[in-house]
Amino acid sequence: MSKLDPHWAVITGAAGGIGRSLCEAFSDAGYRVIATDARPRKDVVCDEFLECDLIEYCDSSETREAVYQAIGSVCGDAGVRCLVNNAAVQRLASTGSIAPEDIRDTLHVNLVAPLLLAQAMLPLLEQAEGSVVNVGSVHEWSTKPGFVIYAASKAAIGGLTRSLAVDLGGRVRVNSVTPGAVDTPMLREGFSDHPEMTERLAECQPSGRIAEPRDVAKAAVFLASESAGAITGSSLRIDGGILARLHDPA
Ligand code: NAD
Repeated sequence: MSKLDPHWAVITGAAGGIGRSLCEAFSDAGYRVIATDARPRKDVVCDEFLECDLIEYCDSSETREAVYQAIGSVCGDAGVRCLVNNAAVQRLASTGSIAPEDIRDTLHVNLVAPLLLAQAMLPLLEQAEGSVVNVGSVHEWSTKPGFVIYAASKAAIGGLTRSLAVDLGGRVRVNSVTPGAVDTPMLREGFSDHPEMTERLAECQPSGRIAEPRDVAKAAVFLASESAGAITGSSLRIDGGILARLHDPA
């Protein structure tokens, strides 16, 4: 792929641990990158940066229109080759103490925004024979105490991946990458009550290591590529084999 014949990728949560790697990997693969995040552009490799809060994006049709216009005017006739819904929030609380605003923010950022973005980008994605890659999590299938609303949102994005793929058929492919433990600030936050356990986490992985953000980013680039042209409605687990492992005493 040549940058003279541009393929554009739109990547949300671009200023985060995995987001920065996604921007680098798509850029290395020859894409032009429109990066977006609620945080400022620090160390993000991209051609355009759009500062946008996805909660506001969900709540305001004016913001949605402004984002669509901004992306459309940058991509022009080339359209969008890949939308990567990577942004997420992880609010930890047990069932009895989840705050209503944490439920709302989590579902807005982790589920509603990916759906509204896919809907808005549809003409641009079809123009470029593009695809959507959602960033899920192993919490879609298997979770821990305290992850109630995060795990629910990740199960929902898995369901959304499959339902969009079926609904859009041959128009736009829709897949997800589902990471397990990836060495980012979000992971360390999840272990903030037991920082010493981060060290032991690698030992629990059949692979023997915690994934790096670039492991997830390369899988997303693959799902967006022509090599994955027959793949839609699928989830590619980058979990070090953790979900394949039986936890019994023997
Ligand atoms: P991160 O917290 O470093 O990055 C998330 C990014 O999303 C941040 O830059 C943040 O600013 C952005 N974001 C949050 N709320 C937003 C909002 N309202 N509007 C716009 N942007 C917003 O986390 P990460 O580890 O890089 O996670 C990236 C993705 O990978 C997420 O979907 C996460 O659920 C998933 N994931 C991460 C891990 C892990 O171990 N780190 C494991 C499984 C899945």
